[in-house]
Amino acid sequence: MAPSRSPLTRASIVGAMTGLLGRDAVETGAQQLREASVDRFRKYTAVHGIYDGPIPAAIVYPSSAAQVAAVLRFAQDNLVNVVPRTGRTATEGGLETVIEDSLVVDGSRLDAIVSIDPVDMMATVQCGVGLQRLEDTVRARGLTTGHSPQSKPLAQLGGLVATRSIGQFSTLYGGIEDMVVGLEAVFPDGTVTRIKNVPRRAAGPDIRHIVIGSEGALCFITEVTVKLFRYQPENNRYFGFLVDRFADGIDALRELVTAGYRPSVCRVYSPEDGRQHFADLIRGRNLVVLVAEGPKPLADATAGAIEELFATRPHERLDGTVIQHWFEGLNWGQDKIDAEKAAMLAHSHLGFTTEVSVDWSRAAALYDAVMTRIRADFPRAGDLTMLGAHSSHSYQTGTNLYFVYDYTINCSPREEIEVYHQPLNAIIVTEALRLGGSMVHHHGIGKYRTAWTEQEHGSAYYLLSGLKQAFDPRGVMNAGTIFPLAPGAGGSGPASRS
Ligand SMILES: Cc1cc2nc3c(=O)[nH]c(=O)nc-3n(C[C@H](O)[C@H](O)[C@H](O)COP(=O)(O)OP(=O)(O)OC[C@H]3O[C@@H](n4cnc5c(N)ncnc54)[C@H](O)[C@@H]3O)c2cc1C
Repeated sequence: MAPSRSPLTRASIVGAMTGLLGRDAVETGAQQLREASVDRFRKYTAVHGIYDGPIPAAIVYPSSAAQVAAVLRFAQDNLVNVVPRTGRTATEGGLETVIEDSLVVDGSRLDAIVSIDPVDMMATVQCGVGLQRLEDTVRARGLTTGHSPQSKPLAQLGGLVATRSIGQFSTLYGGIEDMVVGLEAVFPDGTVTRIKNVPRRAAGPDIRHIVIGSEGALCFITEVTVKLFRYQPENNRYFGFLVDRFADGIDALRELVTAGYRPSVCRVYSPEDGRQHFADLIRGRNLVVLVAEGPKPLADATAGAIEELFATRPHERLDGTVIQHWFEGLNWGQDKIDAEKAAMLAHSHLGFTTEVSVDWSRAAALYDAVMTRIRADFPRAGDLTMLGAHSSHSYQTGTNLYFVYDYTINCSPREEIEVYHQPLNAIIVTEALRLGGSMVHHHGIGKYRTAWTEQEHGSAYYLLSGLKQAFDPRGVMNAGTIFPLAPGAGGSGPASRS
């Protein structure tokens, strides 16, 4: 069913929420609602106070799975669009309320660390627990989640699972899909479902994956159980190597990973991207960053393999402490978000990113194709102040490419998305698809890559669309996310705003 505006009035939606959750759990302040209508995809318009899209009826703060179930059941019965949220770091429009009078369901009051089990090596937390808080708590016991996205200081477990997030140490620990043992989620008919914690099972398809990456478009995640690992930073060994070509860096990563080594960090930066982080050290070259981690004999063996690999390749070696210090300041807390806002306003300038994945054999070709096409085909190429890329997550069969682009805005703030961000995003996404890769590596489809969801999945789109029909038959969960908004659906989604 196509999502559309609820027949209920805003006042009756708010009244029903107050009845279900109590006054303290229902926010209707005008500015809060405006800010809740967008996410970081619209960070430039937002910093100028421009909120052109549909404004939600309320932000609600349930404090139990039963309350989430009551809210979702009400939404389904009354065709009210629901936008789940937790840490609010979404970058792809997943938090945009494209239907007027949506309910933003904020899980941040579900913030209990339920259990930490150092024998079975799992932690169970509610969806609103911040990853930084969980990590600090388990580190005090000599453990780690192994999950370290750059948004760690802000993101919460519900959103991290909903977006299939991945962290800086992924080559060793994997993405969130490798970490989730079990979880609890609430579906729009009010069903509360618990996927139990077991080490592995062959009891049918792995149903965790219906929820992991569902971006709020199928269900609301209320609780998550993740794996724990021993935290042994004293064994870490940090490496930086400057190489001439981006392709040389990619080849070094491929050699190491396909040989069976698992450095926790495995990255290569183009000169332009690398310069942002390492300034004058780069001098026009590409930077390979590696970290060997784990029990000492394993970390030493990985470090030995790294040294051996580069012994046969032309390079200049950087001091490992430079890499270690860089990592210590890499994550983004509220201070960096605030500084970015001030800079956007002061300089009419900003940066965005688009992350995709591709097989090893086509990674260098994808990098070259995107760089060439953006410089040749993007009409505002002259406004770009930086265009670069890095590979930051590697696998047996391939790697990701994370394109970064900064530009000066020579149009009105309102036009910025259409004039700059969307055309740049489209070039990267279409080149990744053309070369057989995935159009999205870890930020989620959100609302701005839905034009390519069918192409991404091909004949398997049958399975994906079947999940939406089965679990959200009335189309009330995060309309326009993962699945394109149907033409003529109520509200003014990304398409109609363009
Ligand atoms: C500075 C910065 C750095 C980042 N670095 C990384 C990185 O290194 N790796 C990475 O993978 N991502 C990164 N991201 C993207 C983003 O932080 C992650 O995708 C993160 O997982 C989002 O978590 P959140 O709690 O902020 O979710 P939110 O922003 O609140 O929501 C994200 C999406 O998940 C859905 N959602 C949220 N909570 C729930 C729930 N309880 N149930 C169902 N659906 C829900 C929302 O509807 C939305 O579609 C970064 C973002 C920023 C701003």
